[in-house]
Amino acid sequence: MDASELYDPEFRKLIKSKKQTVIIPVGSLEQHGAHLPITTDSDIVTEIASRLAKKCGFIVLPTINYGVSYEHSPLFNTSIDGKVLGNILMNIIHSLKENNVNSIIILNGHHGNDKIIGTLRSVSSYSYWHFMKHEFDHAGFVETSLMLAISDKVKMKKAKKGFTTKGLSEKEIQRINKLSTQQGGFPKVAKNGVWGDPTKATKKDGEKFLAEIVRNLAKECQS
Ligand SMILES: [Zn+2]
Repeated sequence: MDASELYDPEFRKLIKSKKQTVIIPVGSLEQHGAHLPITTDSDIVTEIASRLAKKCGFIVLPTINYGVSYEHSPLFNTSIDGKVLGNILMNIIHSLKENNVNSIIILNGHHGNDKIIGTLRSVSSYSYWHFMKHEFDHAGFVETSLMLAISDKVKMKKAKKGFTTKGLSEKEIQRINKLSTQQGGFPKVAKNGVWGDPTKATKKDGEKFLAEIVRNLAKECQS
């Protein structure tokens, strides 16, 4: 169920009578190459949260559409500081608990939020790409396929191959991974803002990835 379908006082009664689990999706507002909208992370995590909620009988709260994306500067990003994001989430968690909602899932859709979300206590927190086998990317094959499956805003004609780790040593990949997460580091590694190759992305692959992620997340949440 989506928060837009909930009414007070019925919802309060529901919380009293039965334990409710809520999901708070967290996204970002940042460049995703020339072919994906800057809302991509938020769009994907919102869709996954909604599918997970349907499968498990959870409630989805509105997505936090901003995240920690300073690594993309000077390419477009609208960022909030990690501490601020942590405080926003802690405030929401506290408020939910005051309202008797004690089962809370934070679902993350952006790599730069990982560190902060991992420090939250008394909630379950997951980054969705850990629930799929395929190696994740940024505006590459995986993310573009996911967007093709859920959005009509993908401009495939503008999709260009970006940085890939093919042929690099493990040590070199580690160095590049680290550089790409520092402030302004991402475009130093991936000049066109793309990590991976989106040119072969398909809607069908996106649907496969979505099904895999939701299946694995549901298993984790219900265990
Ligand atoms: Zn993304």
